[in-house]
Amino acid sequence: METQQKDESPEWEKETRKMVANQLISRGIADQNVLRVMRNTPRHLFVPENLRSEAYNDCPLPIGERQTISQPYIVAIMTELLALKGSEKVLEIGTGSGYQAAILAQLADTCYTIELLPTLADGASSLFKRMGYNNIVAKCDDGYKGWPEHAPFDRIIITAAPPEIPQTLVDQLKPEGIMVVPVGKLYQELIVVTKTKKGIRKESIIAVRFVPMVKPE
Ligand code: SAH
Repeated sequence: METQQKDESPEWEKETRKMVANQLISRGIADQNVLRVMRNTPRHLFVPENLRSEAYNDCPLPIGERQTISQPYIVAIMTELLALKGSEKVLEIGTGSGYQAAILAQLADTCYTIELLPTLADGASSLFKRMGYNNIVAKCDDGYKGWPEHAPFDRIIITAAPPEIPQTLVDQLKPEGIMVVPVGKLYQELIVVTKTKKGIRKESIIAVRFVPMVKPE
């Protein structure tokens, strides 16, 4: 007798598969590790409960405090640009919902992440604990300072927009290290910064729109 294979995977996995096919692969994201991890990460757990049904839509969503979780495609392209092999120490500025950090933690050795706003920092930290992301180290502080105790980093990703590339963070990058950062005021360019012997090399990738990276008083 022929048996029909039933898809027993949870609803959210069907959503991530659709998201990966329609929003990421179709737009050229090709890093198989990035695609796999985005398929396996329940993004709906990182958005406020009343927005869960929209978690896999092709857009950013509000997460409180006038901040947003980035659009899946932006998370994917920024992660792909970091070219992670698995052994890296990564620093993220702007923890927000914690989704980007959760993706990084599955592709690198350790993800350090800094969030300025206490409510968001606390929310993300308890989520990391509950979901078992043991290689995410999070703190509430001003990301412009970086994290000197753990520097230098192999990779730095900034998920809020500074008006210029922050030199303190360039200083905390290893030689040949890569930083991905949206630079600009209202609208930004996504820039890949590579640290070289002579200084830095910059490559502009696409136009993006992020919330500003705030300088606390
Ligand atoms: N990566 C997040 C999205 C971040 S939105 C996610 O996956 O959900 C940008 C975040 O940067 C906001 O939470 C904002 O509070 C934070 N932020 C802004 N300025 C900052 C600063 N100077 N230091 C640390 N975090 C900052």
